[in-house]
Amino acid sequence: APSIFLLPSHSSASSSGSPAPAHLDDDGLPVAVDAVQQRLRQIEASYKQEVEVLRRQVRQLQLKLESKQFCTPPSEPDVDYEDDIVTRWVPDHMASHCFNCDCEFWIAKRRHHCRNCGNVFCKDCCHLKLPIPDQQLYDPVLVCTPCHDLLLESRTRELRSQQLKKAIATASS
Ligand SMILES: [Zn+2]
Ligand SMILES: [Zn+2]
Repeated sequence: APSIFLLPSHSSASSSGSPAPAHLDDDGLPVAVDAVQQRLRQIEASYKQEVEVLRRQVRQLQLKLESKQFCTPPSEPDVDYEDDIVTRWVPDHMASHCFNCDCEFWIAKRRHHCRNCGNVFCKDCCHLKLPIPDQQLYDPVLVCTPCHDLLLESRTRELRSQQLKKAIATASS
């Protein structure tokens, strides 16, 4: 972009540099031409100044633009995405009511995604945290109340079967 602003000053400097007023007299040209030359040189000087001002403005705008690019924070989504990505999430625009209690969402009642079933709930129905080993989620993640009960149930069932296996193993040995 700066090369555009360099062009006019460069071309005009080469054209006005060579013909000196003394040279014009030797060629027998009228003195009026010298006056025209002077006027042209004045115009050229004012153009050069203008170019210089414009160039400075461009530089300032470029600096402003750069600082703006670095300062703007990334836009935050309006939903609690927290940390994990679950494949079965219900799109936000699809859910206007809680999947469990059917209360309506608004600014103060935000959507909460259950990491297990992928449905959208209000905070009252989706505030508990549990690990979901089936989805490779070993740290506790947000789950809805129905899923929380189900997950706990399956976990105790698994524990019980493990204890049973252990008991059988020790009894048979
Ligand atoms: Zn609810
Ligand atoms: Zn759920």
